[in-house]
Parts: sequence; structure tokens; C-alpha cells
Amino acid sequence: MRRVAVVGLGVAGSYLVSRLSHEYEVVGFERCDYADHYPPCAWATSSNEIKKLLSPIGLNFEEYVLYKGKEMCVDLGSSRFWIKLKGLCTFDKLSLERDMVDGHEAKFGVNVRGAEQLKEDYDMVVDCTGFHRALLPKIGKEYIVHTLEYKVKYGKMPIDDFYIKPMRAGYLWFFPLGDSYAHVGCGDYFGRQRHFLDAFMREHGGEVVKRVGRPLRITPPPMCQPYYLGKVVGVGESIGTVFSVLGEGIIPSLQCAEIFSKNLHDPDAYTAEVLRKFSPYKEVFDVVADKIRGRFSFAKDFPKLLGVFSYMKREEERFGIEVRMRDIARIFFSKATSSKG
Ligand SMILES: Cc1cc2nc3c(=O)[nH]c(=O)nc-3n(C[C@H](O)[C@H](O)[C@H](O)COP(=O)(O)OP(=O)(O)OC[C@H]3O[C@@H](n4cnc5c(N)ncnc54)[C@H](O)[C@@H]3O)c2cc1C
Repeated sequence: MRRVAVVGLGVAGSYLVSRLSHEYEVVGFERCDYADHYPPCAWATSSNEIKKLLSPIGLNFEEYVLYKGKEMCVDLGSSRFWIKLKGLCTFDKLSLERDMVDGHEAKFGVNVRGAEQLKEDYDMVVDCTGFHRALLPKIGKEYIVHTLEYKVKYGKMPIDDFYIKPMRAGYLWFFPLGDSYAHVGCGDYFGRQRHFLDAFMREHGGEVVKRVGRPLRITPPPMCQPYYLGKVVGVGESIGTVFSVLGEGIIPSLQCAEIFSKNLHDPDAYTAEVLRKFSPYKEVFDVVADKIRGRFSFAKDFPKLLGVFSYMKREEERFGIEVRMRDIARIFFSKATSSKG
């Protein structure tokens, strides 16, 4: 193994370009132009975990932090409560992705349409194309959340910390970016993201300076196989590394890239490690899927919800939020998240 092509320079692909370049001849390919690229993402993550993931490539996460959260307001319509934050922050994802790639060989503005064009020249082609999964076979049953997000500039910030408004099949978010800016967005399985987002904008004002959005895959890794097809291997959201209940994919995609970098020569070991690491994601997804289908009930689903709680509580530091069963139950069983509106 000598030459590796990494297709898609989002968070997973950029990380791999940096991580693998010491040992291999790595070339990155990204369909967006370098200057125009603005990752469609709310740029929120847990500083505790991401700083560990970035240490092997010598980057200091603190340099990218934009805003450190203290409390997150959860707005259930008729009531509100606050979750203590323990490391959740927003960070400059665009600069991080650029810094991981700068100094390495990367071609921007190249839309790779299939692996054929690369297979001749490379011993391995890594599909880091996220939702697009451009080089691997389509997944049988896909679950997708539709998203729309604005970067908004405010004269006076309408909300002073993290804020979410959960719905039956998604949520609206307001995440401060520091300096009077925020990412305000909405993800909804049923495609009503613009309706909710524009209602929020009408209520709170602000100047929209950027609009982004794309579908988000919440189909969990065990349902996103195969991970390999000949010389092609999938890493990151292309194989479903998104924690569905939060729509959170940065840390899981970096964890997946880290697993891949350690098992690059061993497809079976990579597959087994991904399945092991992300098996709780399937259990969490099952709860989310029941909720989306409107088949969620206190009596039937409380034990499953306890499973979600136990997993998140164990991983509290990695999520960067205080995890309490009471809060999870309030979100899942509130009127706001049970009704279709
Ligand atoms: C609106 C929104 C908000 C989100 N907010 C958060 C958040 O706050 N925190 C969090 O943890 N997660 C969030 N997520 C999820 C997270 O952004 C993704 O799961 C994560 O970035 C996935 O990383 P990735 O590298 O696998 O894929 P991506 O980051 O999606 O990168 C894929 C890259 O591949 C490129 N590409 C696609 N097709 C081709 C092709 N054919 N040829 C060449 N290049 C190609 C794309 O342009 C892109 O740059 C959000 C997602 C969305 C949509």
C-alpha cells in the first residue's frame, strides 16, 4: 500500500489527509472550491473529546473555539428547562478543516463521480463524501433529516447561550458563534425545516449572512454496510457515523477516521471495530425511528429510553453536557415532541 486517495474533505477526510500523510502518498479531492467552501453544520462539539482526537495530528483545539456554552435552554413551547454544559462549544470548523489539509496535496473543485477514475492511480480510495456516499453502493433503507441553517448577525443577541426547540422528528437550534453571530438552523425528518426556521427568524430578527443546508444521514453504521467495495472504503457519515438523537456527526466521524487509520490494512478489523464502537448508535436510532413513526409510548419505550440515558451518561464527558434521565424523558414525552405540528 503506497498511494491513498481521500475523496471528500469534510472533517473526516481532512483529518485522514493529515493523519495518513506521514506514512503514505495521500491526495485529497474535494468537490467544493477552497475559497467558497462553508461546511453546512452548526459547528458545535464537545471540547473534551475533540481535543483528544486532534492531538495525534498536532492541532490545539482551543485555538478554534468560538464560544463556550454554560447552559442550554430547551424550549418545549409551554415550558422551558436548562441543561448544564460541560464542554459543549462552537468552533471554527472551516479553519480546522483547512488547517488539517494545508501543506498536503489536495485538489479542490473536483467532483469525483465514481471510483473508476481513481482506481488506476491509487491503491486505496477512501469515500469521505458524507451524506453523498458517492463511491459506495446505495444503502437499502435510508433515514434522512432535512436541514436548513443560517449564519445570522445580530445587533443584540436575542438569546445569550445555547438554545434548542425539540420537535417530533428534529429540532431547531440557536448556537452562538461569538462576536454577535450565531448559527440558527432546523433539522426535520418531515421536511418542514424552513417553516420552523423562518418563524424563529420573524420572532427574533437578525441579518442572515449565509444560508446552507443538506440532508443528514441518521441511518446508523450497522445499517450502512458495505463499508468496502474493492479498493474503496467508507469513513465518516458515508457509513452513518451520526448520533441520531442529536444529529451530531463531528466526533463520531473523527472517531471513525481514527479507527480507520489504525486498521487501514485490515478490512475485517476495521469493520468489526466500527460495528463494536457504534453499536449503541443502532439502539438510539431505534428509539428515534419509533418517535418519527409516531409509535413511541411511555409504557413500551421507557426501557429503551433508559438504554439511551445509560449510554449517554457513561459518555457524559464525550457529549459535553450533563445527562439526566428526567431531561431526556421530558424531551421525548413532551406535547411539543409528540404532536405532528
Ligand atoms: C445543518 C447541519 C448541522 C449540523 N450540526 C452539527 C453540529 O453542530 N455538531 C456535530 O457534531 N454535527 C453536526 N452535523 C453533522 C456533521 O456536520 C456531519 O455528520 C459531519 O461533518 C460528517 O463528516 P464527514 O467528513 O463524514 O462528511 P462531511 O463533513 O459532510 O464532508 C463530506 C465532504 O465531501 C465532499 N463531497 C461530497 N461528494 C463529493 C464528490 N463526489 N467528490 C468530491 N467531494 C465530495 C463534500 O463537499 C464535503 O466537503 C450537522 C449537519 C448538518 C447538515
